[in-house]
Amino acid sequence: SAKVAGRNVLVQFDHALNAELAERMALRRDLREALAAGQIFVVFQPRVDSGSRQVVSVEALLRWRHPDKGLISPDVFIALAEESDFILELGQWVLRKALQQFQQWRADPYHHVRHMSVNLSPLQLADPALPGELQDMLCEFDILPGQLELEITEGALIRDMDAAINRLAALRSLGVAIALDDFGVGYSAMSYLSRLPFDTLKIDKSFVFAFGAERSALAIATAIVALAQALDKRVVAEGVETLAQAAILEKLGVQELQGYLYGKPQTAAELKVLWAAADEGNSGRAA
Ligand code: C2E
Ligand code: MG
Ligand code: MG
Ligand code: MG
Repeated sequence: SAKVAGRNVLVQFDHALNAELAERMALRRDLREALAAGQIFVVFQPRVDSGSRQVVSVEALLRWRHPDKGLISPDVFIALAEESDFILELGQWVLRKALQQFQQWRADPYHHVRHMSVNLSPLQLADPALPGELQDMLCEFDILPGQLELEITEGALIRDMDAAINRLAALRSLGVAIALDDFGVGYSAMSYLSRLPFDTLKIDKSFVFAFGAERSALAIATAIVALAQALDKRVVAEGVETLAQAAILEKLGVQELQGYLYGKPQTAAELKVLWAAADEGNSGRAA
């Protein structure tokens, strides 16, 4: 009956696997409807200058509010979207929404956002239509290419380095900046880094979280800053939650900080209220 028990475990395992598969299939089907149904929206997370601690930029991040399941993490639904061409549609949609919002902010007297970052999927990078579409959008919303930064994870670049170099060069020749996102957790070969056209290294939040807990985290962050400086690139950190982390990063020479300390990702409407209040506070003090 050890055999029977073994078989039962296998049957249960099989059920669990099937249930998971069915769940993923259902979610993938729902995702296809989600955009048209208005369930997908964009939030923006502030990024501050490490010296002045003033907001200088925002990162656009996608959200999906599922009618039954509630908020679903982009780590889950972006991966699902990447299993088909839907990521191209979604990627173009978020770019449009973000640039449109950036244009609206420019008309507001209290905004301090000079730049905006948008994440790019590896599949978008592989799409030869992207540079042209991007140029059209920048034109449509009257945005200077230098005001836009595209964030790409290292993993996306490793698979076909020569193709990646060409794509990134095409995007940069538009004047758009390129950031290597989640830097340090991928498998970047240092020799390739010098060949890659990019502007910014974005230190992954896992290192920032581990400051004070693991000595290697600070060592790695220090090395990333040194690398960025040697290559004449900018460096940004994500996942800044405490003043202590901010102080360490500022001292290391990180130019911009992003994290819950300065704001969680929020809708443009929420940010508008926040920034208007901060502006009133400032002019109140000045008066
Ligand atoms: P990412 O691009 O590395 O974005 C940073 C993630 O770290 C965001 O998670 C943000 O909310 C989170 N974060 C920032 N500061 C803090 C902090 O202080 N503490 C903590 N605990 N978390 C912090 P989010 O919004 O869940 O996005 C997860 C990932 O999903 C993104 O990582 C990105 O890879 C992907 N993603 C989101 N929106 C898009 C998009 O429009 N296109 C593509 N291709 N990917 C996207
Ligand atoms: Mg990012
Ligand atoms: Mg990141
Ligand atoms: Mg990430």
